[in-house]
Amino acid sequence: ASGYNLMRDPRYNKGLAFTERERETHYLRGLLPPAIISQELQERKLMNNIRKYQVPLQRYIAMMDLQERNERLFYKLLIDNVEELLPVVYTPTVGEACQKYGSIFTRPQGLYISLKEKGKILEVLKNWPERSIQVIVVTDGERILGLGDLGCQGMGIPVGKLALYTALGGLRPSACLPITLDVGTNNEELLNDEFYIGLRQRRATGQEYSDFLQEFMSAVKQNYGEKVLIQFEDFANHNAFELLAKYGTTHLVFNDDIQGTASVVLAGLIAAQKLLGGALADHTYLFLGAGEAGTGIAELIALEISRQTKAPIEDCRKKIWLVDSKGLIVSTRNESLQHFKKPWAHEHKPVGNLLDAVNAIKPTVLIGTSGKGQTFTQDVIEAMSSFNERPIILALSNPTSQSECTAEQAYTWSKGQAVFATGSPFDPVEYNGKIHVPGQANNAYIFPGFGLGVVMSGAIRVHDDMLLAASEALAQQVSEENFEKGLIYPPFSNIRKISAHIAANVAAKAYELGLASRRPRPKDLVKYAESCMYSPIYRNYR
Ligand code: NAP
Ligand code: MN
Repeated sequence: ASGYNLMRDPRYNKGLAFTERERETHYLRGLLPPAIISQELQERKLMNNIRKYQVPLQRYIAMMDLQERNERLFYKLLIDNVEELLPVVYTPTVGEACQKYGSIFTRPQGLYISLKEKGKILEVLKNWPERSIQVIVVTDGERILGLGDLGCQGMGIPVGKLALYTALGGLRPSACLPITLDVGTNNEELLNDEFYIGLRQRRATGQEYSDFLQEFMSAVKQNYGEKVLIQFEDFANHNAFELLAKYGTTHLVFNDDIQGTASVVLAGLIAAQKLLGGALADHTYLFLGAGEAGTGIAELIALEISRQTKAPIEDCRKKIWLVDSKGLIVSTRNESLQHFKKPWAHEHKPVGNLLDAVNAIKPTVLIGTSGKGQTFTQDVIEAMSSFNERPIILALSNPTSQSECTAEQAYTWSKGQAVFATGSPFDPVEYNGKIHVPGQANNAYIFPGFGLGVVMSGAIRVHDDMLLAASEALAQQVSEENFEKGLIYPPFSNIRKISAHIAANVAAKAYELGLASRRPRPKDLVKYAESCMYSPIYRNYR
C-alpha cells in the first residue's frame, strides 16, 4: 500500500512513530514532519492532553478520535491506564455519550441494522470489511445502562464493551463487531430531536420484533459460523430473558446484564466466604430488585450452592428472597408474576416494603439491584447489623446517584461491620481509625476473560457451569492483602492477568463439558490464554 493509505488506516497508522526505514520503504517521505518519536512518548503526550479536559464527554470524544486515527495507540493508552480510562470509554461517561450521540456523531462505528434492512440482513453483514469475527456485542437500545430507551444511539455501548474485550481480555480488535439493531424508539425526546440518528418510529414489538431478531440471528450464523460469541447487551427485561432462552440452544449467546452480572457478584460472595469463613449455603439472601440483574444473580447463587452441597436446586432457591416494586415476592402473588420471578415465590405472608422484609427474613446478605437510589436507609442497615456480626451488603445500582447507599453510610451505620461492595466506584472510608475500601462489582472483571475463554477453546455453547468457573477464578485472584482492607474484588490494575486466569478456567470447563472444539487441548491454559492476547505494541513494517 502507498504510504498515504498506511497513514490513513487506523489499524496500521503509527503517526510520528514510523521509523526512518519505514518512511523510506513505504513512500512516507514528506508526508510526515522529520521527528521520530516512540510509542511511549506518544502515549505520554496523549494522556497529558486528555487529562487537561475537565469535561468527561470531551475525554470520551478524544478517546474515540484516537481509536479512529491510531488503533494500537488507543489500546496502549487504555491498557496502561485502565483505572483512569475505564470510566471514560465505559460507564458512566459512555452513558452521557449515548444520550448525546446524535450531536457528537462524526463517523459511524460498528454496524447499524434497522427495520429498513429487513429481508437483507445477510447482505448488510457482508458490507462489514472483516470476514473473521469472534465476538459480536449487539443491543436494541431499549435499556441503556440505567438510562432507559436511547434507540439507535445505544451504539456507544457495544462499541465501548468491545473496546474492553480487546483492552482487558485481549481479543483482536478486527475480530470484534459492534451492532445496533434499530427497531425504533419510544423515547419522545429522541423522536423529536433533529439530530437523532435512528429510525423515527415507535418500537416494533411482537411478531415483527421476533421475526427481525430471528433473521438477524440466522444471518449471523450463516455468515460467521457457529463459533462467533453473540453478547446481548442492554435489552429490556421483557425481551432479554426470552432471547437468551430461545437462542441459548442454537447459538453461542451470552447476556452480560443477566449472566455477566451474576458471575461477578457470585465471585464477590465466594471471596467474602474466604474473608469471613463459612459457605454460601450458610446464608440467607435478600434482594431489592427482581429484574435481569437480581434474578440472574439469584439463580447463579442457587446453582453454586446446589453444586457445593449436592442439594436439588429447588431447595437451594429457598434461601433466596426478592423484593420488587410491589413488595416481597411470595407464593400468593404467583398468578400475576412475570415468569422469571416465579421460581422465587416462596411461602410467606405478604410483606410490603424492604425494611419489613429485612426484619421478617433476617437475611445475612442484602443485595440492591432495583436501579433506585437511597433505598438502603439507616433503618435497613442498622437492622442488618443488629442480627449479623458481619452483614454482607452489596449496593449494585448504577450510576453513582442511584446507589442504594454510599460507602460512608454503609460503614457508619453498620459501625464498620459491613462487608460492602458497590456497582459504581466509591472512595475508601475511614471509620473509627480503620480504612475500609469498598470493592466494585464491575462486570468488566468477567466478560472480557469469559469471552477469551470461550473463543480460545472454540466453545460452541455457553453453559452455566462456565459462569461458575469464571466466578471461582475471579475470587481466587483476591489476595490476603486485599482482604485486609475489606476488599472482595482484586484491584483493576492487574486485569489482563485476571482475565487470563478467568479465560483458562472457563476454557477448562468447556473442555470438561465437551463443548470445546479446539484440538488438541492446550496443556497450560493460562499460558495459552496469555499467548492469545492482543498486544498494542507497534509492529515493524518491512
Ligand atoms: P430491571 O431488569 O429493569 O429490574 C429492576 C427491578 O427493580 C425490577 O424488578 C423492579 O420491580 C425493581 N424495582 C424498581 N423500583 C423499585 C422500588 N422502588 N422498590 C423495589 N423494587 C423496585 O433492571 P436490571 O437490569 O436488573 O438493573 C437494575 C440495576 O442494577 C441498574 O441500576 C443497573 O445499573 C444495576 N446493575 C449493576 C451491575 C453491577 O454492579 N455489576 C450489573 C447490572 C446491573 P418490578 O419488577 O416490580 O418492576
Ligand atoms: Mn449492560
